[in-house]
Amino acid sequence: MTGSRSTGRPASGRGLPAFVARWPLWNLPVRLTAAILTVEFTAVAVVVVLAIGSAMPDGRGLRDMLLIVGLGIAHTEIARGVEQMRRRVNGEVHVNLGSVWFFAAIVLLPPIYAVLCTFVIHLHLWLRSARPRNPVYKHLFSSATMVLTSLAASGVMAAATAGGTGDRFDLHVLGLGVLVFLTVNTALVAGVIAVNSPQADVASIVGEWDENLLEVATLCLGALTAAAVVVNAWLVVFVFPPLLVLHRAVLVRHLEVAANTDGKTGLLNAAAWHTQAERELRRAERRSAPRAVLVIDLDHFKDVNDTHGHLAGDRVLAAVADTLRGEVRERDLVGRFGGEEFVVLLGTLGDPEGGELRVVAERIRERISALRVEMPTADGPLTVAGLSASVGCALYPGDGRDLRDLLQVADTALYAAKRAGRNVVRMGTQPAPQPRVAEDSTSARRYGQ
Ligand code: GH3
Ligand code: MG
Ligand code: MG
Repeated sequence: MTGSRSTGRPASGRGLPAFVARWPLWNLPVRLTAAILTVEFTAVAVVVVLAIGSAMPDGRGLRDMLLIVGLGIAHTEIARGVEQMRRRVNGEVHVNLGSVWFFAAIVLLPPIYAVLCTFVIHLHLWLRSARPRNPVYKHLFSSATMVLTSLAASGVMAAATAGGTGDRFDLHVLGLGVLVFLTVNTALVAGVIAVNSPQADVASIVGEWDENLLEVATLCLGALTAAAVVVNAWLVVFVFPPLLVLHRAVLVRHLEVAANTDGKTGLLNAAAWHTQAERELRRAERRSAPRAVLVIDLDHFKDVNDTHGHLAGDRVLAAVADTLRGEVRERDLVGRFGGEEFVVLLGTLGDPEGGELRVVAERIRERISALRVEMPTADGPLTVAGLSASVGCALYPGDGRDLRDLLQVADTALYAAKRAGRNVVRMGTQPAPQPRVAEDSTSARRYGQ
């Protein structure tokens, strides 16, 4: 393992140029900064052009605007408790339940006023809940995506009703609005994620299915809110109970994910990996398809901690986890078993003899040894390189039919790899009839459930 440091000092000084030079936006990769600025400038340009050609709202329009903004702000305040709890569990926010109000504004108001409502509600949300964690550029980017999304949905709905061909409350017009909202919002956010990490998988780019379903539910509630406002503005009180239940549903979903996830690496934790691996093996039994288990242990990892400290060690663990995820397929199960030890279940192998397994294991070993983990520290950027891992493999069904046996075989192979000098892959063999008493009992303890 090697480490190197280089010095990089943040810009210092006073005045506007120095203030701008210190923005965290400039620390991002150039292509990401360019993508964010493009979205933000486009939103500003479109809003300015629209504002120039717009008339003041009439009395009804003004009332609807104030009502939507008031409801949006009340929603943020009421849901703050449950949202704070959700954020403690999982900081990521893919779905913004504020879309209820954004979409209601799109249906009820001319585009520029719908955008104004969206901007104000979003600004209040940021000031009250997200400001300490989200830098200004993130908030502005997310506002810009909402503004462009609102304008696109509003424009398409206006076009669909142009010339008196329909009403905004026609089913197909509302359906079209929901579709455009979802598509434009996903495309803008996904575009920036894809620019940031070109290797990102589809789920992290377009969001999980249930997140998108939740967004659809939120937009449907927005359409019903708009209809309620037209019939009798007091009816909007009926929107709040289902909205708060949606917040709770998101919280429960995030608690579920957190209970299965290893906090340092984002991989499955040991218990969740066991449960899911057992399920996968039962499936394999029905389909009689080969599977494989790999146990991967970083070599001399203690030296990383001793040389660079535990925080650097944690960064290395996270980078190794990313490498593992990047080297296997979406359906393969990657978990952290504890410490610097990882475990992978490869689902559906084409080759029952283990040739494919060896190729994957060697590739993982090579990727870890080529890894350069860069991180900022108080003394400047640090790069940790020269890592290596030993890998033990077991093949289903050849090396065992249940998970415990497979783990035992893979663990024995791992110890053989360590004894062979480390940075080595060893394929499993059935445990010898006379097991190594000390090591095997340790393995049984470690992998026992
Ligand atoms: P070997 O090649 O034999 O596997 O040597 P090793 O140093 O990797 O193994 P050892 O079991 O001696 O030490 C494991 C080290 O992993 C010691 C422990 O401090 C470190 N470790 C375990 N969990 C964490 C963690 O969550 N974060 C950090 N930074 N280090 C951890
Ligand atoms: Mg180790
Ligand atoms: Mg270990």
